Amino acid sequence: MISVDEARKIIIENCSERSSKTVSLELASGATLAADIYSTTDIPPFHQSAVDGYAFAFDEWKLQNQLTVSGVIPAGSNSIPTRLPNHAIRIFTGAPVPEAYDTVVMQEKVKVTDGQLIIEDSELSRGNAIRLKGSEIKSATLALEKGTYLSPAAIGFLASIGIAEVLVHDTISVYILVTGNELQHPGTPLSPGQIYESNSYALVAALKQLRITDIQVERVQDSLEELSLKIKSALIASDIILITGGVSVGDYDYVLQATEKNGIRKLFHRIKQKPGKPMYFGKKDKTLVFGLPGNPASVLSCFYEYVIPVLHFLNNSIQDLKKLNVPIDKSYQKKAGLTHFLKGYYDDSIVQLLDAQESFRLSSFAKANCLICIPEETTLVQKGDLVEIHPFY
Ligand code: AMP
Ligand code: MG
Repeated sequence: MISVDEARKIIIENCSERSSKTVSLELASGATLAADIYSTTDIPPFHQSAVDGYAFAFDEWKLQNQLTVSGVIPAGSNSIPTRLPNHAIRIFTGAPVPEAYDTVVMQEKVKVTDGQLIIEDSELSRGNAIRLKGSEIKSATLALEKGTYLSPAAIGFLASIGIAEVLVHDTISVYILVTGNELQHPGTPLSPGQIYESNSYALVAALKQLRITDIQVERVQDSLEELSLKIKSALIASDIILITGGVSVGDYDYVLQATEKNGIRKLFHRIKQKPGKPMYFGKKDKTLVFGLPGNPASVLSCFYEYVIPVLHFLNNSIQDLKKLNVPIDKSYQKKAGLTHFLKGYYDDSIVQLLDAQESFRLSSFAKANCLICIPEETTLVQKGDLVEIHPFY
């Protein structure tokens, strides 16, 4: 059995750089950037009026208090009228502000009588209502970092700086294999000896929260032949295989044999932790294979602790497992030898140790927002002691 830290190290050491491809911006939504993106131009590309109004030279207005209106600059205009002294020019939102004018006033704050502009804005200052050239981003500066998730706003931002193609990571495909003869679909009556299958639901939900959508789920009976075949097809179709159940040493636990049969190299089996002690990890080519002990709380704990860091790694996300130290609301005693991951609920000041910690139960997990990590050698945590918590994504 290896420690939690050793397990984490082995897993990350076995993650490989993801392949990437160039796609047009239209197809990039939901992908993550595989390279930093720099702006190739100043945005805005020219000093731009932020309002419909009048552009003028601030000093002239200060001296005269009144300016003569002449000329007009609509958005998209490329002919800039020559400046006349003591004049203001009609201008519209998004239009280029001529060099000679340094201030714009919005039309709601002026009166124009017989071509004379009177400004009624006591707070008007030089530079008002002008979006300066390069104020959004300057040419050759970093626009978005490698690893950035391309949300609708990120896509819009890239378009706004003139980017038409991006280098993105290939999507991560995940294959979930749930094993167990006793499993029944929710929504269907239970026959004697059956229980409802929940692991695939929890895992799919967790993956979707992480914006992973290339997911396949397969149910497998406790049969070496069937499991071996399903693993074989999963190996072809996925980057990550998550097998739930069947990873212990019971007579009906076939994960170890079936993975070996498929040429998957075992990198570890069993971690000094609770829940999830029998967890398995292996690799074939670039596919990572997680054998998650079947109890629903073990599956989710192991997912949060070991699978999420891999997903972050594969997406080049800077984000790693988030850790905080907060006081615990009650004492907790355990034997030395295993790291415990306990369901907790924290707000700013304290973490509540929830009840129903057994690995077959999800009722408290459903209310939890973090796992409390009690280290291997710790035997007693007193109420008020600082404990390490891992908030959920
Ligand atoms: P196993 O790891 O296969 O020995 O399963 C451990 C426990 O988790 C058993 O009580 C199983 O019935 C239960 N279990 C396994 N897979 C699932 C699942 N997909 N949904 C709910 N419970 C499960
Ligand atoms: Mg089983």
